[in-house]
Amino acid sequence: TMAHSKALLVLENFIGGKFVPCSSYIDSYNPSTGEVYCRVPDSGKEEVEAAVKAAKCAFPIWSSKSPLERSQILNKLADLIEHDLEAFAQAESKDQGKTITFSRTVDIPRAVYNFRFFASSILHHTTECTEMATMGCVHYTSRTPVGVAGLISPWNLPLYLLTWKIAPAVACGNTVVAKPSEMTSVTTWMMCKLMEKAGLPHGVVNVVFGTGAKAGEALVCHPDVPLISFTGSTLTAQRITEKSAPHCKRLSLELGGKNPAIIFDDADLTQCIPTTVRSSFANQGEICLCTSRIFVQRGIYSEFLKRFVAEAKKWKVGNPSDPTVDVGALISKEHLEKVRSYVKKAQAEGARVLCGEGVDSLALPTGNQKGYFMLPTVIAEVKDESCCMQEEIFGPVTCVVAFDTEEEVIERANSVKYGLAATVWSSNVGRVHRVAQRLQSGLVWTNCWLVRDLNLPFGGMKASGIGREGAKDSYEFFTEVKTITIKH
Ligand code: NAD
Repeated sequence: TMAHSKALLVLENFIGGKFVPCSSYIDSYNPSTGEVYCRVPDSGKEEVEAAVKAAKCAFPIWSSKSPLERSQILNKLADLIEHDLEAFAQAESKDQGKTITFSRTVDIPRAVYNFRFFASSILHHTTECTEMATMGCVHYTSRTPVGVAGLISPWNLPLYLLTWKIAPAVACGNTVVAKPSEMTSVTTWMMCKLMEKAGLPHGVVNVVFGTGAKAGEALVCHPDVPLISFTGSTLTAQRITEKSAPHCKRLSLELGGKNPAIIFDDADLTQCIPTTVRSSFANQGEICLCTSRIFVQRGIYSEFLKRFVAEAKKWKVGNPSDPTVDVGALISKEHLEKVRSYVKKAQAEGARVLCGEGVDSLALPTGNQKGYFMLPTVIAEVKDESCCMQEEIFGPVTCVVAFDTEEEVIERANSVKYGLAATVWSSNVGRVHRVAQRLQSGLVWTNCWLVRDLNLPFGGMKASGIGREGAKDSYEFFTEVKTITIKH
């Protein structure tokens, strides 16, 4: 009805500095109520074409600005987002289902910091130079922006992950066409409203909203987009690789994980247990870096399990806008069903579900009965070959198993197709180094989790990705290098 549709939030594409309506729209759900509350443009080839054209048109001006000028604009944009932090945090929580506490303290502050970080780091790069005296030559390298960058991001950390791409891309002098997930588009749209005030020339940042199959693929296949930075699932990355192969595009792929936590009998459990509960269930377990396989040394296995389950049970599930809630709603009904199906499969295989799904009852506030909620779930006695120990579940489910030796646990931790992030818990310095060195994992945290220095490389091995992001890594990805030789 008219009255109903009027109440909906309707997003528009952002192309060449203007908000442009689309001919068709997709419904977007509030995961904590199960209701449609927003309509997102269902963009396709035509919209992508217009956005790429605007980005190409803005490239000569933007790429010829000094790093300092670009830096000032990015800092201004960071200030504007920070000024509206609460509104952004509310919107992210409503759109994604994550708790308001998480979006207030993690998502939006990090989005602000992404701009500040690259606004600063872009000022400090130098290029290489070598002399070849016998030939009378000097060689040096020069770096230039690539052109129009295609940026595609997932739904779990919407503004956080997209700004982690937009910031370095534009800091380096590229112009961009971004496509956030169709399920979480609102905060990106809100950010577009601040671009002009920040002083960003029209066409430097363009956003097309829509599905992966239509809008995403049109961007990947566009001949004038030489570079694609993608964060999402391994399956989609394979498709993107295929579709971009005929154009020889430069790809950065940040993909899924099946991250192990390795807990030795000399670990400080008072630190380890709450941190491992957090690494398993933060953001409903919907972070690529979340722990989902916990290997505990046999001597402390039963004590660990008891204390871990007790701690997991403290996590309160409920309305994401309630600041006392720790676990919000999962992104969609389909995703909730998929996550639940893993718990059922584990049970069918003879594993023990110690708390959560199917074991404890979940009482939800009246307004949230149709939301996509699930209790933090701990499974024990799962076989390493089980799909619960091999596949990315991407929800509040974690498996705990026992191990005996260092050698054995390294092998078991490495025996999955993924290699994104691992944690190692031990007070033995030598062991921590030995194990960290041998894990097939782009990131290893010892005695902590999710402590990041954005300067250093971020990314995965094996099916977890290709390429790295960070101060130097993103700079190298978003620029083209040339070696120049001068004979005097
Ligand atoms: P997804 O692969 O389904 O979608 C990611 C993005 O790609 C979305 O914007 C989607 O619309 C788009 N897309 C889908 N099909 C496409 C196609 N054919 N062509 C172009 N674009 C297409 O992933 P998701 O479900 O949104 O996100 C969850 C996944 O992301 C998990 O696997 C998670 O581990 C991963 N992830 C990885 C990192 C990392 O940094 N390594 C960070 C966060 C999430």
